[in-house]
Amino acid sequence: MIGAALICWSCDLELANQVAAIRMKKMAERIWVETLGCPKNQVDSDKLGFRANRAGYLPAAEPQQADLIVVNTCAFIESAREESISTILEMADLKKTGGRLVVTGCMAERYQAELATELPEVDVVVGFGGDFLVSQTSVASGFVGQTSVAIGSKPAKTAFHSGTTFALPEMDLLNLARARSDSPWAYLKVAEGCDRRCGFCAIPSFRGKQRSRRIEEILAEAATLDVKELVLVAQDLASYGRDIYGRPRLVELIELLRRQVDWVRLLYIYPSELKPELIESIVATGVPYFDLSLQHVSRPLVKRMRRFGSGELFLKRVAEIRKLEPDATLRSSFIIGYPGETEQDHRALLDFLEEAQLDWVGLFAYSREDGTFSANLDGDVDSELAMQRLREASELQDQITRRRRDSQVGRELDVLVDSVGVARSYMEAPEIDGIIKVGADLRVGGFQRVRVTSSTGPDLTAEPCELGV
Ligand code: SF4
Repeated sequence: MIGAALICWSCDLELANQVAAIRMKKMAERIWVETLGCPKNQVDSDKLGFRANRAGYLPAAEPQQADLIVVNTCAFIESAREESISTILEMADLKKTGGRLVVTGCMAERYQAELATELPEVDVVVGFGGDFLVSQTSVASGFVGQTSVAIGSKPAKTAFHSGTTFALPEMDLLNLARARSDSPWAYLKVAEGCDRRCGFCAIPSFRGKQRSRRIEEILAEAATLDVKELVLVAQDLASYGRDIYGRPRLVELIELLRRQVDWVRLLYIYPSELKPELIESIVATGVPYFDLSLQHVSRPLVKRMRRFGSGELFLKRVAEIRKLEPDATLRSSFIIGYPGETEQDHRALLDFLEEAQLDWVGLFAYSREDGTFSANLDGDVDSELAMQRLREASELQDQITRRRRDSQVGRELDVLVDSVGVARSYMEAPEIDGIIKVGADLRVGGFQRVRVTSSTGPDLTAEPCELGV
């Protein structure tokens, strides 16, 4: 009897706990994070989501269900800003009654007061590092968390929709904790900001000077993510460590990360920093993938961009890489229509693309950005002409990419299966390059040796050579 009674009490207790858990779950607020822009923003969103989760928020299945919608914006170029504004308005339409819409990210940092004034639909605009979990009532009442709100004070982390500025508790966004990745790969941001002043780029003006993370913090985050592949990102990746260690320490970082994961991939290498030691280190990772930020090849134009290099020098680097690793994959990006770009400059770019035979290329039309060096340059390129040049370069590069992908048919490669039927080898960076289509039976998150059987545009199809690991 006593035993039965005990079981009964324990059942009661279990039920009570269950009810409390369900009640809590129902009470917990839900959050939806919408991310725009580059991989660096995606990392920030992961951190914001995890922080919200730790503070008791549950993820919403769709924005309509969220008590808090956070839009992490991009302000890189005009089209990115347009997309950010459309997304904010779309989210405002979906916001449920009593819900809050918080805008953060690059655009919030760069145009804080303007956004707060022009978009009354937005409840709070939060700059980098401002605590985005502020509630609307706490801001309206002049009290945020345990911190007094300095209404109308100058440097602040948020702006309320009336245009009034408020100070918010700060958080160290770069080093915020992150959840384990639910994919076999993850971006890992190793630094924020940039010490360079490229003529077209506004990033340093709102992201600030480079701030590298300490090696131990990066290794700890890598361990948490628990992935097979890490994709290192920063505004100026090859300069990693210079600000805090007095010299770049990317090569050491790569070595340390290689002990934790199978693949380490690097995105965005400023060409002057691609020294032989770094080239060797990238080849040694087993992911000989070189993402070189070249932007143009005509020396006078590159100079006007306040950047390093020339087509001749870049071709030399490409040859050095291929000498060391003939199968290396090369990616780059170029800006078309920069002020002063002549027909001769454009031809130089086309010749370079033909000669370099890069695997992947991103081509972008120049966008005049406030506060940049190029905003005051003369020699505007007519937008029609810029588009025509962009089309010409894209058509040429599409053919090159297609040919290079065709040449992979018959080759055996190790691939990482990202999701059902979708894999990548060292040649494809996630989200930006093509994919390798594989059988739906291959284990997601595993490596597999495959043979490429066909090629369609940027994508390949492959079949397994042996059982995966
Ligand atoms: S390297 Fe140049 S383009 Fe890249 S973030 Fe820095 S200033 Fe901008």
